[in-house]
Amino acid sequence: MRLRTQILLSVLGITVLAQLVFGFVAYRQITESRGDQLTIFLQYLNREIAERLTLPTNDYVAEIYLEELRKKFSTPKSVLIIQKDNRILHIAGKPQEDITAITDELRQAYTDKSKHGMIHLNDHAYYWAVSQLPAKGYQLVMLEPAADEEKKIASTLRFRLLSAGLIILWIAVWISLLLTTKISRQLNEKNEQLKHMALHDRLTGLSNRTLLSDRLEQLLRQSQRNEQHFALLLIDLDRFKEINDTLGHQFGDKLLKQVSQRLLKSIREEDSVARLGGDEFAILLPQTGRAGAELIARRIIHTMEEPFIIDDVSTESRASIGIALYPEHGNNSDSLMQYADVAMYQAKRSQTGYAIYDPQLNTHSVRRLRLMNDLREAIEQNRISIYYQPVLRASNRQVYCVEALARWLHPELGEITPDEFIPMAEQMGIIRRLSMQVLKQAISDSVRWKKQGYQLSISINISTFCLQDISLVEKIKNILQHYNFDASMLQLEITESALMNDLSRAGKMLDQLRRTGLQLAIDDFGTGFSSLSYLKKLPVDAVKIDKSFILDMCSNNSDNAIVKSIIELGHNLQYRVIAEGIEDERTLEQLLQMRIDAMQGFYFSKALPADELLEWLLNNHEQNDFNLQAKLL
Ligand code: C2E
Ligand code: MG
Ligand code: MG
Repeated sequence: MRLRTQILLSVLGITVLAQLVFGFVAYRQITESRGDQLTIFLQYLNREIAERLTLPTNDYVAEIYLEELRKKFSTPKSVLIIQKDNRILHIAGKPQEDITAITDELRQAYTDKSKHGMIHLNDHAYYWAVSQLPAKGYQLVMLEPAADEEKKIASTLRFRLLSAGLIILWIAVWISLLLTTKISRQLNEKNEQLKHMALHDRLTGLSNRTLLSDRLEQLLRQSQRNEQHFALLLIDLDRFKEINDTLGHQFGDKLLKQVSQRLLKSIREEDSVARLGGDEFAILLPQTGRAGAELIARRIIHTMEEPFIIDDVSTESRASIGIALYPEHGNNSDSLMQYADVAMYQAKRSQTGYAIYDPQLNTHSVRRLRLMNDLREAIEQNRISIYYQPVLRASNRQVYCVEALARWLHPELGEITPDEFIPMAEQMGIIRRLSMQVLKQAISDSVRWKKQGYQLSISINISTFCLQDISLVEKIKNILQHYNFDASMLQLEITESALMNDLSRAGKMLDQLRRTGLQLAIDDFGTGFSSLSYLKKLPVDAVKIDKSFILDMCSNNSDNAIVKSIIELGHNLQYRVIAEGIEDERTLEQLLQMRIDAMQGFYFSKALPADELLEWLLNNHEQNDFNLQAKLL
């Protein structure tokens, strides 16, 4: 039953019930008051009789007198009785019943000390009232048939109740109608609000994932029926996490709002935009093929090119768009969503702005999507472990430092190399968190080794994304302070290519880092196509020659020449030169001849877990040697 009917029926029910109760109470009150009236009347008669009736008189005269009084003061059918000691002396009026039966019945009633009441005899009801005559112990009894009275009362009541009832009912119906209309309007509004909230994104007001899925299903059915095509676009903002982290969530929220406005402006009326969460948006383009989808994608990219002005700060945020087409790529919502996602990552990776799903990329991308998902969890749950690879000083061939290298053992896919997951962490904006985890773990391990007699420096790889974090210096200082760790025992490695991408910004950050007293090294040197003299401007202490040159230097003359010149130039510029990727003795000998400063490679040891490293040190080195080698070269 609808709420409106329910309320209406309950109000009506309550009204009718109230009317019945009211009627009953009124009836009782009226009958009660009729008894009271009779008693008062009898008392009045009493006085009249006491004054005028002198008993014992002639019975006939008395009866006539009594009858006169009855007629004068009472109703035509009433009966007046004078009795003494239960003996009827006089009767005035014509009782319908046997008078002795009445009086017997009455006797019981007025021995209960009542002065009036009602008795039933042979289906006739009577009001009765008794009054003691002041003289000689006579009782004056009055009987009045109740039927007429009751009828009168009932008809009066009926009329009054009916008219009052109708008025009340009418009012009640109106009140309940007004009430139900108001309540149902409010409920409808609330329902609409809740529905809207459940299906829309609070921040931007766009549809959310649930509504998008509904619309996608609807569009699929419609397109199947009408043999039409459509496109699904997934959009992810580049660098959003970074903006959010550096400029704050409120800033990020404002940016998302502006982005949603721009997206809305880029589409047609029949298209729909949804925010799937974070910086991910989706667009459905009904009756759109490849060309149409590309057109919209280009339009979106174009609108995003203009900087966003938020709180007087100008920010740039580009979008990567993945496109999946129906029916070309898939005919169900799950696969279309997945394919658009794959295409979106493809667009991100290739930095092309948008990409249309290419089935050939799929196997690779599905694994990638899965890894990205699991990587976030692994980092959040601190499940990335750290291995350490020894670095040896060339002069005495002793280990003085270890490089911390992240390792991820995936529960199902096995070991995932850092070459695969580090770029993912960078892309997902979680590399900073990972770097700080690695730094803390490595410092705490180093503190532990020191207690066991091995004083080792640690070298940490720092991603270019970390260099963009303005709070990096502060964070590192805090960690050093927390572990009471000597800054000069920490080395940060930054890849050459990362430095070359943004030399001026990186340069400033390196200056600040170096002021804390730590050491800086350029990693994978030789791959970034930079000239050493260019790097001269950077405040670094060491260069690590990329292992690709070292691995082949014995067999490849040009690699050999490159290694030789890097070492010479490095020395000229006062850098320490470190070689990584030494796998055999021959390479080591050649490097030593070239006056390399430090060495690292499988020839000495691969990267090992903290405990195994300690074992390795015990087996390969005299403990005391390390106590003397406190600082980096
Ligand atoms: P990288 O910093 O240049 O690290 C040296 C890589 O060379 C390591 O690979 C190491 O295992 C490998 N290596 C060392 N000696 C030899 C050798 O003799 N032969 C060969 N073939 N390889 C050798 P790994 O651990 O796979 O790391 C790869 C890269 O991933 C690292 O290159 C580094 O750029 C990055 N990476 C690792 N951990 C982290 C981290 O915690 N943070 C960041 N930002 N990057 C990391
Ligand atoms: Mg390194
Ligand atoms: Mg390297």
